[in-house]
Order: sequence, then structure tokens, then C-alpha cells
Amino acid sequence: MVDSSSSMSTSSVTTPPSPFRASILQGKVALITGGATGIGFEIATQLAAHGACISLMGRRAHVLEAAVSSLEKAGFQAIGLQGDVRKKEDANRVVEETVQRFGRLDILVNNAAGNFLVVAEDLSPNGFRTVLDIDAVGTFTMCHAALKYLKRGGIGRDPSESGLIINITATLHYTAQWYQIHVSAAKAAVDSLTRSLSLEWGTDYGIHVNGIAPGPIKDTPGMEKLAPEDAGMDQAKRETWGEKWDIALTAVFLASDAGRHINGTVLAVDNGAWLKKPAPVPRDVIRAVSRTVEMRSRNSAEARSKL
Ligand code: NAP
Repeated sequence: MVDSSSSMSTSSVTTPPSPFRASILQGKVALITGGATGIGFEIATQLAAHGACISLMGRRAHVLEAAVSSLEKAGFQAIGLQGDVRKKEDANRVVEETVQRFGRLDILVNNAAGNFLVVAEDLSPNGFRTVLDIDAVGTFTMCHAALKYLKRGGIGRDPSESGLIINITATLHYTAQWYQIHVSAAKAAVDSLTRSLSLEWGTDYGIHVNGIAPGPIKDTPGMEKLAPEDAGMDQAKRETWGEKWDIALTAVFLASDAGRHINGTVLAVDNGAWLKKPAPVPRDVIRAVSRTVEMRSRNSAEARSKL
């Protein structure tokens, strides 16, 4: 276990100012899978900056150590726990060690994922299965391991006592995406289990289960792999990508009391990018055409009425 037991103080982490009060997650404990890097680390940092104690899970010890040390320097309470979300025993151990260290578990963020670009024809069934195992089965395994601590309210008891789950997914399966058949399938499964768990665990225990679907996010291991600088992608397009902060502050919102009536939803945080497509004809043309069509139909209605 990588431990940082320092108490809260002022943060030295440079981030845009938060619109939320710094104490809105005070007393909460959050476990973030894949929380030592990229989007997961920013989620950890922002949950901590709003009062939560942080447990990070990942496979690489040195990466966890660096992340915990960075949180510690910012004055946050954090531990790093080595484990693979694909292994039930790791999931159980990490949850237990988190509760041993901080006394409770309130927020589970399933952020760990695998990704690589591959032509579907070249992807082995094993490669496909590996990504489903990490993203989809791993998410379920972690939810399952955490349930007993998240369902504090219990059936028929005060649901506000219960914890919550946030699953980090994506938007690529809303339509279809080149060279990411494995991730699309995995994230579709994650969205489905978000809804199913929100129904069962929301109804039975008051556990809210929601998702956040980032669009492309700058300065992340994910986008370094999927759109490397040397792949020749238009710089202007890169400028439209979101920041890790955008995803992290959405997690803070969902984890706060402001999210108390939100359950079974996946929030796309991509500035509407997945909906964007070029207009089939320029707007001036469509204005002129619709005026002509309107006139034509009015004229023919008048002509009919005179018959
Ligand atoms: P990332 O930092 O590479 O996230 C992967 C993290 O998961 C790493 O910390 C990795 O650490 C951990 N991990 C991988 N396999 C694991 C396993 N089996 N068990 C435990 N931990 C594991 O990537 P990111 O780009 O920030 O993405 C974070 C999340 O956002 C992912 O769910 C991704 O699908 C989603 N997302 C990202 C983007 C984007 O633009 N980056 C867009 C849409 C969605 P170890 O290797 O040390 O285990």
C-alpha cells in the first residue's frame, strides 16, 4: 500500500478554480480505479480538493506512488493500492483496504480501461475479450466488491446514507467508430450496466449509479494512443478537445448533493461533439428553398380553394 496520511491543507495543484465549495465532499471516501493517471488522476485530485479522502487503484506500483505523492504534496489524504480490476480477489482486497484505512466507502469511480487502435479484421478474439474484461467485467467486479459498503442504508432505510457509483465511459458507441470495435462494445456494456444497477441498487438501496462519457480529452494517455501528435491530425481539431478538469468537475457535481436526484444517467461531456455533423446544404440555401416551398404550397392551396 502506498500511503499518505497528511491532513487537508491548501492545494499546490494548479487547476482552474472550482465553482463548488471546497467542503462539499468533506468526510467522503472515494475509490478511483485507474486513478493514478490521466482523467482518473484529475478526478481523484478534484474529489480530494472538495474534501474526499482518496484511494487509487491500478496495476503499476511506481505510477501509484507518484500519484499518491503528488496528492500528498497538495495536502490531501490518499493511498495507492495495487490491483487488477479483472481479478475478483484484487477488487475485494482493494475495497477492504480502503475501508480499513479510511473507515468507509462512499464513492466508487470505475475509470480503469484498456484501449488501442486496431483494424477489426486484425483484432484477435482475445484482444477483444481483454478490453471487455477490463472495462465491462472489471466495472461490474468493482461494483460487486464495493456494494456491501455502499449500501449502508439497506433496504427500507434512509437512502441518503448510501454511496454512489460513477462509471467513466465514452461516446464512440453512440454511433460507430473506426478501429475501436472492442472499446465501443465494452463501453456500450458499461452504459447498460450503469442503467441496470441504477434500477436494482437505486431501488433497493438508494445507491445512485451514473456514467460520464468524455469526448476526446487533451493531455491524456488515451488520446496520446488514439491520436498521437505525429499522426498528422489537424491542430485546430485538437483545440476543440476537452480538459481533464471538465470530466473531474462533472464527477464532483454527481458526487455532491446537487446530484441527489440523478440516477441511471450517462452524461456526455464533449461539448456536443458526438452530435455534430456537417449541414447537408448551407443555411442560406435552406432558407431560400424553404421560403420557395412554403410559397408553392400556399399557392397550390389557394388554387385548390378556388376550384
Ligand atoms: P489512462 O490514464 O490510460 O487510464 C487507464 C488507467 O487505468 C491507468 O491508470 C491504468 O493503470 C488503469 N488500468 C488499466 N487496466 C487496468 C486494470 N486491469 N486494473 C486496474 N487498473 C487498470 O487513460 P485516460 O485517457 O485518462 O482514460 C480514462 C478513462 O476515460 C477510460 O475509461 C477511458 O476509456 C475514458 N475516456 C477517455 C477519453 C480520452 O480522451 N482520454 C475519451 C473517452 C473516454 P495501470 O496500467 O497501472 O493499471
